[in-house]
Amino acid sequence: MLIKDLQEIQKRQQQKVSDFYTTRGLHVYFKDKIENPDIDFDKAIAEVETVVPSHLMSEIEMIMVGHFEEFDERGINAFYADGMVCISNEQDNELDIVDDIVHEIAHSVEEVQGYFIYADNKVKNEFLNKRLILHDILWSAGYRVPKKKFTEVEYDQDFDMFLLQTVGYDKLIQYCNGIFISAYAPTSLREYFATGFTDFLLRSDSHNYMKSTCPQLYKKIYKLHADSD
Ligand SMILES: [Zn+2]
Repeated sequence: MLIKDLQEIQKRQQQKVSDFYTTRGLHVYFKDKIENPDIDFDKAIAEVETVVPSHLMSEIEMIMVGHFEEFDERGINAFYADGMVCISNEQDNELDIVDDIVHEIAHSVEEVQGYFIYADNKVKNEFLNKRLILHDILWSAGYRVPKKKFTEVEYDQDFDMFLLQTVGYDKLIQYCNGIFISAYAPTSLREYFATGFTDFLLRSDSHNYMKSTCPQLYKKIYKLHADSD
């Protein structure tokens, strides 16, 4: 390889540490460097822009990569706030990055499309029915948590920890089989939507399963995806 080419690669890598713009005009900013040399962040972003239609990314102005206090406080590795997707610079593979960014895009879509998604209560009722089924399954499995906890649709950290730590996602995913599409979906109504949105966009082989297990959610996401107005 020519020295000139090497210098060009080095220059690009140095630039990658700070920021770049995608062809769609999305600003990707590196607050902190990605330490894992195997990660090709450009590739992950290109994949996001391939799978998410531009009308569903209208709220996203910037993707900021780095370490944020919220990650430690809330035990998360990505979040959406004010037009910005913040994502951890500690990553194992590009697939996780794509998954996390699409999930956070879902939360941005929810903010502007909240009326369409939730106002008729169809998704909420579907979610609550599933929560009650899950309550009964967990109750029979020995997890005696009051029903009241399962009828709250907003995020609740205790409930999140109950599912994540007390039950554990390995077991929970089995209890959720045929009810929820993932172990994270029962966490809250918003996560029910975000996990559905992510699966719809990233796993086309999941469409039939979602259509039959979560028909109301599927209908909303299908329409959001199809509408480019
Ligand atoms: Zn979420």
